[in-house]
Amino acid sequence: MQNKVDICPLNRRAFIGRGTLILAGAATASLDFHNCFADTIKNTNTENVLRIALVTDVHYADKKTVGSRFYKESIAKIQTAAKEFKKQPIDFIVELGDLIDTARNMETDKKHLRLIDAELKKISANRYYVLGNHCVETLTKEEFLDVIGQQKSYFSFDQRGYHFVVLDANFRQDGVAYGRNNADWKDTKIPDAEIKWIKSDLSSTKLPTIIFLHQRLDIGNQEACAVKNSDKIRQIFEESGKVQLVLQGHHHSGGYSEINGIFYVTLLALIEGTGEKNNSFSTLEICPNGNFRLTGFLRQKSREIKTVAHQPHIVLKLF
Ligand SMILES: [Zn+2]
Ligand SMILES: [Zn+2]
Repeated sequence: MQNKVDICPLNRRAFIGRGTLILAGAATASLDFHNCFADTIKNTNTENVLRIALVTDVHYADKKTVGSRFYKESIAKIQTAAKEFKKQPIDFIVELGDLIDTARNMETDKKHLRLIDAELKKISANRYYVLGNHCVETLTKEEFLDVIGQQKSYFSFDQRGYHFVVLDANFRQDGVAYGRNNADWKDTKIPDAEIKWIKSDLSSTKLPTIIFLHQRLDIGNQEACAVKNSDKIRQIFEESGKVQLVLQGHHHSGGYSEINGIFYVTLLALIEGTGEKNNSFSTLEICPNGNFRLTGFLRQKSREIKTVAHQPHIVLKLF
C-alpha cells in the first residue's frame, strides 16, 4: 500500500500499516505524543530525548547566483541554523547531501568543502555526511571523504537504542561510482555490493532503525529524483521489520510518503531562495516511547509521527 502525501495534510488520516487499519484518534494521539515531550520539559530532563540536527542541499560555493540558488548565502544560513540548534542539546548533526556545489576546479571544491565543514563542526563535532551528487561531481568520493574526515560513504552506528544507517546512492546504473564529471544526476542506483551490506547490517541489529540518504526511495523508479532500484531497497527495509523512518534530500521542494508502515520524509533544500526567510533546517527528536517529532524552521514544515514500535500497527498523526 502506498499513500503518497506531498502536501502536508491538516486533517487526521487513516493508514493501513502492516495489515491493520488504524484511525488515529486525533485528540488521544496528540495528547499522548505531547505528554512525552511535556514531561521532559517539566522535569528539565532532556537526557531521554534523542535530538538530531538536520540540514540538506546546502550547495555552498563562492559563485554567482543561478536561478533560485544563492550559493554564497549558504554559510550565513548555516550560521543561523547553528544559533537555533544551540538552544537545546544536539546528539549529532546530519547533512543529507549536496553540501557543496560544483566549482571551477578540484582545489576550489576542496576549499569550499573545508569552509562549510568548519561551520557544521561548530554545531556538533558529531557530524555525519550523506554524499549527494554535487558532492562528488568534480571530486571523487575518496577526495570528498578525505577532506571531511569521514571513512566511508555508507555505514551505520547505534545511539541510545536506535540504529542509524547512512546510504550512498551515487552510483550509475552500470555500477560505476560518481566522480570527475562521469555521471548524469538522474542515473542513480544502490549497487549490489551495498545492497548485500544493507541486508547484513539490518539483520545484525535488533534496534528500530532510521535511514539517511540523498536521493529519493519513495517515488517511482523512473522519476528523475528517484533511486532507480527504489522498489528493491524498500522491500529490504520492509522485510527487515526494523526500518521506521527514511530521511532524504535532493528533491529541493521536499516531499512525504508513508509506504507499508515506513515513513519517508524529504527535507526542503537550504539553498533555495535568498535571505533569512528562505532558510530551511530542522531537528528530529525521538522520544523514549518511539514517537518522532520533526521540528521545521522557516520554510521547513513540522511533522509529528506517532509510532508504536514493534507492534503490528502504526498510528500516524501529521500537522
Ligand atoms: Zn541539491
Ligand atoms: Zn542532489
